[in-house]
Amino acid sequence: MEEKEQNMGQELLTVDAIRQMIDLYNPCTDDYLFVLDFQKDAYYISPHALERFRLPGYNFHGVMKNLAQVVYEKDRETLMADLDDILSSGNRDSHNLIYRWLNTEGQPVWINCRGRVTRVEGQAAYMVGCINEIGRKQKADNVSGLLGESSLQLFLQNYTEAIPDGYFLRLGLDNFKSINTKLGIEYGDMVLRRMADIIEQCVHDGQHLYRIVADEFMIIDFDGGTAEKASELYRSIRRALDQFVEENHYEAFVTVSGGILLCRDIPKFSFSQIMKLSEFSLTQAKLLGRNREYLFIQKDYDVFMKRKLLTQALRQSVADGFHGFEVYYQPIFFNSDGSLCGAEALMRYHTAEGMVMPGEFIPILEETGLIIPAGRWILYEALRFAKRMQETIPDFRVNVNISYVQVMKSDIVDDIMRALEECDVEPKDLVIELTESGLIESDVYFTRLWKQLKEKGVKLALDDFGTGYSNFHYLNDLRPDIIKIDRSFTVRAIANEYEYNLLSLLSGMVRNLELKVCVEGVETEEEKEKIALLPPDFSQGYYYGRPCAQDAFEEQFIRGAGKQA
Ligand code: C2E
Ligand code: CA
Ligand code: CA
Repeated sequence: MEEKEQNMGQELLTVDAIRQMIDLYNPCTDDYLFVLDFQKDAYYISPHALERFRLPGYNFHGVMKNLAQVVYEKDRETLMADLDDILSSGNRDSHNLIYRWLNTEGQPVWINCRGRVTRVEGQAAYMVGCINEIGRKQKADNVSGLLGESSLQLFLQNYTEAIPDGYFLRLGLDNFKSINTKLGIEYGDMVLRRMADIIEQCVHDGQHLYRIVADEFMIIDFDGGTAEKASELYRSIRRALDQFVEENHYEAFVTVSGGILLCRDIPKFSFSQIMKLSEFSLTQAKLLGRNREYLFIQKDYDVFMKRKLLTQALRQSVADGFHGFEVYYQPIFFNSDGSLCGAEALMRYHTAEGMVMPGEFIPILEETGLIIPAGRWILYEALRFAKRMQETIPDFRVNVNISYVQVMKSDIVDDIMRALEECDVEPKDLVIELTESGLIESDVYFTRLWKQLKEKGVKLALDDFGTGYSNFHYLNDLRPDIIKIDRSFTVRAIANEYEYNLLSLLSGMVRNLELKVCVEGVETEEEKEKIALLPPDFSQGYYYGRPCAQDAFEEQFIRGAGKQA
């Protein structure tokens, strides 16, 4: 009775009329308006929802079944329960639920769905409502008082046809996080507001300014601005910011970096490309040392992308059982009689384009931590190889390079000992090579590792000696079994008498400490002759043999050696 009275005073809109209204509103809002017709079991939503969500259409029947397709699996039950409740209750007239829909890529997106139920004689007739994305980036930002990223996206939609002439200048505060942590969020907000003011004062009419993420701003000049003009603008902002810092007596020491992107350098003029390339430019500016600008150059981006692709490929290969990785072996000979002592294991990586050298991919493996599994892999490969070579040369040794990342971030001693046991190789036949350069950074870990490996009887080589610091006291403290003299030192010694004497002195000193010397990178007969006078204990270099795959190694070095032995 009560409900009847409620409906009597108002004229009910028909569902068709509501649909027409939704169509009318469609261009005016980013939200999605809908009407759910309970009686006809039909659903109608703003057509632009189709561009965003995995909907069967914007107009469909079979509401529960079809709606389930767009709702994130974990949230389906909640939604269905709520709709059931509306249908079974005689008086509930509102729906307000925060849950997830799937976007066109199948990713869950948080939405808030609010609706008003209209009842006819107690029965739910239809529900009209609105869905908005609660996680969507803000259009405007109340801290800086500027428009936000989605406004920038809208603005750029006006430029899909003709590419404008001008530039994007993406600015990023260099040390904003530390300001927030040290001086508090309110202070951080004040700095952002000041920054926004400063930029606003520096830009001229016709240029557009947006705040994109927390501490980044975008200036757009579509007025024919050149790289020089962009650079001038960046510098004027930097000067104004310096002044602010000074006026604040350096309480907050904040600097700004700028990435400049010329419109004509953007291959595909779209919002996502512009965001990607401008972000790259800003990152480059920061990598160059911060508080500076960088002008986008396609060549730099290609290098960056190549590295990124290589990183992805390496990650995939490691996950795929090291597919694409290979071990090359370079022979090491006794200097005394020229017989084969063993080999150094060197990593190689193959992509569809060809072989990649360690100089290119080892730093990536180190940066990503992938060197830990890859290092373990080469260790096992090398030990199995040594075991096989020992069938012909019983004392055959294998040298394995270990990176400092492995030393600091993995249980390398356990890995080594387990591998030796599983491959049935004696510790004395494994030489672990570590470079001098990383030693300083990882002192504590390094010393512990060194001591443990020595106790177990694994041999240790100090690699690349003569490249960096060459701190002689390390030799005395660490007492490595072998010092590997780097090729650059060898080359210098051959060309220069002073360096040669130095090398000779070093060689004597090393001998006094009862350490062995391996000279690396001997390429020519002349080099070999000169080096022989030192004399080193071991020689390694292209002259004696290049690194090669296992089969080639056996073919070249083992068959002959087998006859000698
Ligand atoms: P490294 O340990 O100093 O290895 C010796 C490098 O010198 C090898 O380069 C070898 O091919 C090269 N070489 C040998 N003889 C000659 C010569 O006569 N002339 C010239 N010009 N070069 C010669 P490669 O294989 O490109 O390896 C480069 C570096 O990559 C290695 O330097 C090592 O630091 C690193 N690396 C290679 N494999 C591994 C690995 O499995 N783990 C780790 N952590 N690093 C590795
Ligand atoms: Ca080495
Ligand atoms: Ca070396």
